[in-house]
Amino acid sequence: MDPLQTPIAYLKGVGPNRALLLQSELGIYTFQDLLHFFPNRYIDRSTTFKIAALPQSTAEVQIVGRVTDLQLIQQKRGKRLCAQFEDETGRLELVWFRGYKWIMEGLRKNETYVIFGRLNWYNGLVSMPHPEMELLSLFEQGPKIALKPLYPSTEKLAQRGISQRIIHKMMMALFDAAQNGFSESLSENLMKQLGLLPKREALQQIHFPTSHEALGRAQFRLKFEELFYIQLQLLKKNQERKQKIKGYIFSKVGTHFKVFYNKILPFELTNAQKKVLKEIRSDMGTGAQMNRLLQGDVGSGKTIVAFMALLLAIDNGYQGCIMAPTEILAQQHFQSISSLLENMDLQVGILTGSVKQTDRTPLLEDLKEGKLKIIVGTHALLEDKVVFNNLGLAIIDEQHRFGVAQRAKLWKKNTLPPHVLVMTATPIPRTLAMSLYGDLDNSIIDELPPGRKAVKTVHRFDKNRLKVFQFLKEEINKGRQVYIVYPLIQESEKMDYKDLMDGYESIARDFPTPDYQISIVHGQMKAEDKAYEMARFVNGQTQIMVATTVIEVGVNVPNASVMVIESAERFGLSQLHQLRGRVGRGNDQSYCILMSSHKLSDDATTRLNTMVQTNDGFKIAEVDLKLRGPGDLMGTQQSGLLQLKIADLAKDQQLLKTARAWAAAILKKDPELLHPANAPIRKTYTALGAFKNIWNYIS
Ligand code: ADP
Ligand code: MG
Repeated sequence: MDPLQTPIAYLKGVGPNRALLLQSELGIYTFQDLLHFFPNRYIDRSTTFKIAALPQSTAEVQIVGRVTDLQLIQQKRGKRLCAQFEDETGRLELVWFRGYKWIMEGLRKNETYVIFGRLNWYNGLVSMPHPEMELLSLFEQGPKIALKPLYPSTEKLAQRGISQRIIHKMMMALFDAAQNGFSESLSENLMKQLGLLPKREALQQIHFPTSHEALGRAQFRLKFEELFYIQLQLLKKNQERKQKIKGYIFSKVGTHFKVFYNKILPFELTNAQKKVLKEIRSDMGTGAQMNRLLQGDVGSGKTIVAFMALLLAIDNGYQGCIMAPTEILAQQHFQSISSLLENMDLQVGILTGSVKQTDRTPLLEDLKEGKLKIIVGTHALLEDKVVFNNLGLAIIDEQHRFGVAQRAKLWKKNTLPPHVLVMTATPIPRTLAMSLYGDLDNSIIDELPPGRKAVKTVHRFDKNRLKVFQFLKEEINKGRQVYIVYPLIQESEKMDYKDLMDGYESIARDFPTPDYQISIVHGQMKAEDKAYEMARFVNGQTQIMVATTVIEVGVNVPNASVMVIESAERFGLSQLHQLRGRVGRGNDQSYCILMSSHKLSDDATTRLNTMVQTNDGFKIAEVDLKLRGPGDLMGTQQSGLLQLKIADLAKDQQLLKTARAWAAAILKKDPELLHPANAPIRKTYTALGAFKNIWNYIS
């Protein structure tokens, strides 16, 4: 057996009890898992501070001294263990709120210790909670490492005495035990081309770094490897799908497409739209199933492209559908498709949770018989009762990736799976696209329709509201329309409602009838009232639309030229960008005004500044990624693919591109990885399938 697959309980110094803890708290079951349990940071242990010269901050420091007093103090809740710690220049207090039993039993008074921890200053007095401690004599015997790794831990582990020092000891035992267990997982060529450390050395340095430089090289090697295998898996999946999964062949450009393109389409497609449409057409003609991601900035014209792809499916005798993540989005698609179909002999249906049974029955009947060619809907489309006659193209508009199994429900009755086009509402950062959608082919509409003037964005504080209102009046007097949007946050819906109503009243005072007409739309209104208010704005009967974020995805009013976002500091970047995309759709200069209070967090300041500085959705997405991290950005559903052990999708963008490029190049030359030079890659890749996380295998 592979020695690295030995259960962790058999490692010297672990045993059955600690093994259980390691399993439940850290998911460490085997030697292998422990080997790939990486430090999340390192601290410089080459400097020792004197107590009298400690920095007046919450820095982490190392001190040498003696414990002179030890007291367990009863507090209101639980107990606290306090120790006095002295060197020849002064003293500080060490404090434990938990795990103190271990400390009390183990700590030796008046012996010299090396301690390490974060300083805590209070009223000019300094203390150190939960220090790492080691007898100086032992510390000096130990390996001389300049950088001390710090491993992720949990409260329970700390309580049960599994300290950093214990983990460190386990690592030493592990490296003793696993002497010959490491095999190289990358090809010689890759190692040479990229100057990578050998596997064994990289692992050694990651746990016991001898210098900053060596640590850097070890991290580079392991990050590359992690990203490389993820990309290899994704690219391989794409390759295999193209080889194995047959798709309907749409060979014709038929009547519907031609009529729409030549007679109905009111504008020339942009070159980017044409290019993407060509990519889609060529995919759907190959005989393999299309799996393509379509990205484009807000307003770049994705809808038309998706719609024309649907026409291709229909002209070739198939049905098409659009699935959206929310009811509002589904409604929006339904409306845009309906208006595109206005002068054509085609119908579109809509199916969401709120469609009544009486409407549902005939709809499902028509779908099953193939009379209805296009349907738009939410998850409701996945229900068992929904049966297509022959679904040829599924367009999936999503914020989060639907599971494959979920999608497969769409085509249960088909002989072949339909072509799939995935659209995202706003651009997603490249590294996330490569990770989450790395198995799909990628189309980007990187050009806005001509004649669009870039929206001018400014940030104004609340106290300048009168000036802002004055500006709105000038715009309205020129015949323009204005949005004023308030935040809607689930947890404080009542408060938001109050803000909205207060805002509405003050707007109504400043913009009195009959000169000004105002629409108001919010989440607590009935659907028909919402629709009525929206319609008044769309028709130009009202000049001002006061709304919560429901309009984020809702309306297309080219005459609207100003978007005012109230409490803009409370919105996320992609939301702000989406909202801004509601204006700048006509030929007039448009404006986005971000209102905020003076109190702004650093992140909020960055968000507002970013909005002021750029209109580029791809750039905004990158900033968002840096601010929020991949997990928060894409939601927890995707966290599996985004939770990397050592690489970081926000910080290691360049490396990810390199890894993907290498994976692609290797597969291109040697699709089955049969070349002897690729043997280590093939072996690793083959074994991956059986493991959840690549690090469970690679070594
Ligand atoms: P997206 O879905 O990418 O945000 P839409 O498809 O909603 O963008 O398009 C935004 C607006 O631009 C719509 O009013 C649409 O009719 C218009 N539009 C799309 N493509 C073009 C084009 N090539 N030329 C002019 N206007 C276009
Ligand atoms: Mg759209």
